[in-house]
Amino acid sequence: MDRNHALPQVQLSAESNALRRIDFCAPQSYKGAGFLSIPDLPRVAEEVSAVVSGDGFHWDIQTHFEPSPGSEPHQIMELGLKGRLHLTCQRCLQGCAVDLDEKRRFIFMATESQADDYPLEDEDQEPLVASQQFNLLETIEDEILLSIPLIPKHPEGFCEPHASVFGDGEDDDVPTERENPFNILKNMKKN
Ligand SMILES: [Zn+2]
Repeated sequence: MDRNHALPQVQLSAESNALRRIDFCAPQSYKGAGFLSIPDLPRVAEEVSAVVSGDGFHWDIQTHFEPSPGSEPHQIMELGLKGRLHLTCQRCLQGCAVDLDEKRRFIFMATESQADDYPLEDEDQEPLVASQQFNLLETIEDEILLSIPLIPKHPEGFCEPHASVFGDGEDDDVPTERENPFNILKNMKKN
């Protein structure tokens, strides 16, 4: 039996604070979309070099239930994220715009141990633990943080290495990139 037709679909509020407590144990699915600005996402805000007008993320979410043999159907959540933030370019140390366009799929498990047992090799979907006050804002923020590049840079040829960023040549990429964050940190503290 397809549970989805029998269950109500609840519209998620676009209000960022309303996303902090969503009941993922209730027999209902969700659908919604909205925009989160950088100040709505405190952990993302710590990473940015500046907040430029228009920075932030459009999100859209849709959930449905999928049958699972031998247990209750699992709720599946599809999350789309599209937006922009500004990070420090690790070549020139100026701000650079980073665009994200991500799609993620999650499966809600009833308990922590079920989520722990969920096969790691499933790259199509990640397990989440359902709760009556699930913090969806935190999940969205986690996905943004996981999606941003570790070493953000302007496109090749777009900028010149900052004087403190040594040896940013094409031939010795790996070792210098490991060292660079320390140089950058030192310089940031000096300035
Ligand atoms: Zn740059």
